[in-house]
Amino acid sequence: AIEVRDLYKRFGPLEVLKGVSLTAKQGDVIALIGGSGSGKSTFLRCINMLELPTAGQVTIHGESIEMKSDGHGGLMPSNRKQIQRIRTKLGMVFQSFNLWQHMTVLQNVIEVPVHVLGQPRDKAIEVAEALLRRVGLYEKRDAYPSFLSGGQQQRAAIARALAIQPLVMLFDEPTSALDPELVGEVLSVIGDLAREKRTMILVTHEMKFARQVASHVVYLHGGVIEEQGPPEAIFENPQSERLKKFISSIH
Ligand code: ATP
Ligand code: MG
Repeated sequence: AIEVRDLYKRFGPLEVLKGVSLTAKQGDVIALIGGSGSGKSTFLRCINMLELPTAGQVTIHGESIEMKSDGHGGLMPSNRKQIQRIRTKLGMVFQSFNLWQHMTVLQNVIEVPVHVLGQPRDKAIEVAEALLRRVGLYEKRDAYPSFLSGGQQQRAAIARALAIQPLVMLFDEPTSALDPELVGEVLSVIGDLAREKRTMILVTHEMKFARQVASHVVYLHGGVIEEQGPPEAIFENPQSERLKKFISSIH
C-alpha cells in the first residue's frame, strides 16, 4: 500500500535520511525503531509530505507522488491537489495528540470527513460515534480535549485519524507523552487495529509491544536502515552490534 524508494532528506547541512527504502503491503504492521535523532519522525513526515524529501519517491496505493526540482537541490510537489488527496488516505497520529482544542471530541472526529471530504454531517456523526465507542470514548464525545486525560486524548486522536478511512495509519510514538499508567489503554487500541490487519507504520519505543504486534521491524540508525526483519529475528537474534546495544539499552 505504501512504497518508499531511496528517500533522502536534508535540513541545511544536516543529512537526516540517506537513502531509505521501505514497502508496507496491505495488512503489514511495520514497527520503526531507532535512537533519538535517527530520522524516524522525519521518515513518517516525508510519507505524507509534511516534510518534502530532498530526493526519492513515495508511492501510495500505486500512485506515485509527483515531484519536481525546487531549484535549490531539493524537491517540491508538482501537484498540490494530489498531495491533498493522498493525505486523506493516510491517518497520522502524533506523540502530542494535536487535537483541536476549541472543538469537542466529536467535532474533532467529524471535522475532516465533513469539511474536507464533503461527507453528509449525519453520516459522519454516525461513523464518528461508532469509532468513539470502539476506542471507549463514546461518553466523552461532547467534552473538550483539555478535560480529557492524555490517554483519552490520544484515543480520540486515533478515532479522528480512522474517521477518514485511511489506507494506512502512521503512528509517531503515540504513547511517549503519556503517564505510564495511561500507556496500556492506547496500546490496546493500536493492538486491536494491528490484529485487524490494518496497514500501519508505527514508530515506538515500546519494544515489548512491537514484538507482539509487528509483522516487520525496521531499525533505523543515522538515517539508514541498519537492520530489518521479523520481530523474532530483530529482538531475539539481532545481527548488528548497534542494534544489540540499542535493544539492551531499552529493556
Ligand atoms: P526521536 O526519537 O527523538 O523522536 P527521531 O528519530 O524521530 O528522534 P527526527 O525527529 O526525524 O528523529 O530528527 C532527525 C534529525 O533531524 C535530528 O537531528 C533533528 O534535530 C533533525 N531535524 C528534524 N526536523 C528538523 C527540522 N524541521 N529542521 C532542522 N532539523 C530537523
Ligand atoms: Mg521522533
